[in-house]
Amino acid sequence: MNKKTVRDIDLKGKKVLVRCDFNVPYDENRVITDNRRIVAALPTINYLLENNCKVILCSHLGRPKGEVKPEFSLDIVAKELSRLLGKEVILAKDVVGPDAVAKAEALGEGEVMLLENVRFEAGEEQNDEELSKKLASLAEVYVNDAFGTAHRAHSSTTGVASFLPAVSGFLIEKELNFMGDAIANPVRPFMAILGGKKVSDKIGVIDSLLEKVDTLLIGGAMAYTFFKAMGYNVGDSICEEDKLDLAREIMDKAKAKGVKLMLPVDTRIGKEFSADTESKVVKCDEMPDGWEGFDIGPETIAAYVEELKNAKTIIWNGPLGVFEFEQFAVGTNEIAKALADIDAVKVVGGGDSAAAIEKAGLADKFTHISTGGGASLEFLEGKKLPGIEALQDK
Ligand code: AMP
Repeated sequence: MNKKTVRDIDLKGKKVLVRCDFNVPYDENRVITDNRRIVAALPTINYLLENNCKVILCSHLGRPKGEVKPEFSLDIVAKELSRLLGKEVILAKDVVGPDAVAKAEALGEGEVMLLENVRFEAGEEQNDEELSKKLASLAEVYVNDAFGTAHRAHSSTTGVASFLPAVSGFLIEKELNFMGDAIANPVRPFMAILGGKKVSDKIGVIDSLLEKVDTLLIGGAMAYTFFKAMGYNVGDSICEEDKLDLAREIMDKAKAKGVKLMLPVDTRIGKEFSADTESKVVKCDEMPDGWEGFDIGPETIAAYVEELKNAKTIIWNGPLGVFEFEQFAVGTNEIAKALADIDAVKVVGGGDSAAAIEKAGLADKFTHISTGGGASLEFLEGKKLPGIEALQDK
């Protein structure tokens, strides 16, 4: 990585503003259901504490859309972080208002405070300069460690970096090193598994991966657009009618580049979109009307696993079926299990595929599981992430 990190700057005893990604899921009782994003921020926070910094953390949580809404308060994060650090985390009542300013002013060395949800400020998502300046005025150094929002140019992820010495934390460094390495210097054969809903969402990443991979394996609802383009009946499956030409172009490009493009050969179909709907497996070119494809079938799983066994580098982004419903989670789970036993560099883009791997308890069998779904997708597309571009070069 060519950006400075916390190691490359003198921050001993300084007041440091750290943008974290504490956008954790929580239930209706406001109990955090998955604390991984908070845990992922600990290495940077601990490093700053070891250097006697005065640590001011900030993050967004959910989409309060520029308004103060108590249900989006970071109080739940302050509590969990406090538990993980074994020390008090002071929560400011506002972002850059009088309470935050007073608490930041009074903060001592080795103390940690957390600003309220940055998206309580209307200026945050507009990358408002005034807000960026106010955030900067709280501290002497800015550290971005929020990989999950690095693809957004907001005040707390990008704007603030114009007004303070700005470096990355350890999480962003780790994300870029693992994903960057896998893409830039893959040990071959290099294979990518892409699933999820829409071809249109993934076109950028498909395009960029076709330049690099040896095999591209497609699953999820995306596959049915390809089938339609090939002239198959797809029943009521999700299919982007306006992307049929695009699907054909992708297939042609794969051929031209010598990339092996693998599509499912069989699919588990259901009568309707529900967990306990009637289901059966059919060949992909024999889909009946009135049914929807919700998962890859057993023959496809076997064929994909056989292919993946030869890989030395694997990137996976997006579930291969409706993994939220048990009977259609088989493809995603079986591929996750098979990957666990394959000896290769295995990098998983965040979001649903990461959740499926965590749920199966297989996370430690992977080289790297990204904390950022959208950010990792944009990174794989080869796009510049504004939150990282804004940091100082080495
Ligand atoms: P994405 O955000 O594009 O990665 O898509 C993830 C979503 O795609 C998950 O919520 C899955 O349930 C959904 N999905 C995957 N396969 C299918 C399918 N065959 N039909 C409908 N939805 C699907």
